[in-house]
Amino acid sequence: MIEQLLAVVGVDKADRVVCQAQGCGHGVYRRIHVVRRDDGELGVFGSDCFERLFGHLISKPPRYGSGEGRELTAEERQILADNTERLIAQFEEEHQVLLEQARLRREQQEKVEQAARERAERLRLEVERRRPPTQAELTSVHQQAKALVRQKFNVDPDLPGWAGLVLAEARKLLGR
Ligand SMILES: [Zn+2]
Repeated sequence: MIEQLLAVVGVDKADRVVCQAQGCGHGVYRRIHVVRRDDGELGVFGSDCFERLFGHLISKPPRYGSGEGRELTAEERQILADNTERLIAQFEEEHQVLLEQARLRREQQEKVEQAARERAERLRLEVERRRPPTQAELTSVHQQAKALVRQKFNVDPDLPGWAGLVLAEARKLLGR
């Protein structure tokens, strides 16, 4: 198991715990460092002993909480005194709940963003549908429109008088 700083917690002086560094035995109540050792066992250490024994863990935040040494609630203090393993299990549970909440928030956010993208796309299509045809588009169907006018009305579409009719046919062809 990889050595890991799990939490930094604080308790009232009356609830202090004994630092488990060999030969230390000091009571610790502020910034109690809860460490999972490489043999899987939990240990609690004062700041000095933690830095001396686990200096390589200092740069990383603890797995639970900020590392500010949050004060435990009365219930948590009791659990710490009785069974550190149980307190850590409780931290893990809280940690999982937070992860789940974050996951749900992310999911919700993605849904909102997806809906916004779809709305923008619908709007873009609507604007596209409503815009008048460009000159290039009209030109592209000009010959076809003239042929239609010639066929439908039996007139010479190249005469200026029929330009409006040709344009109308061209717009019909373009669907605009
Ligand atoms: Zn110590």
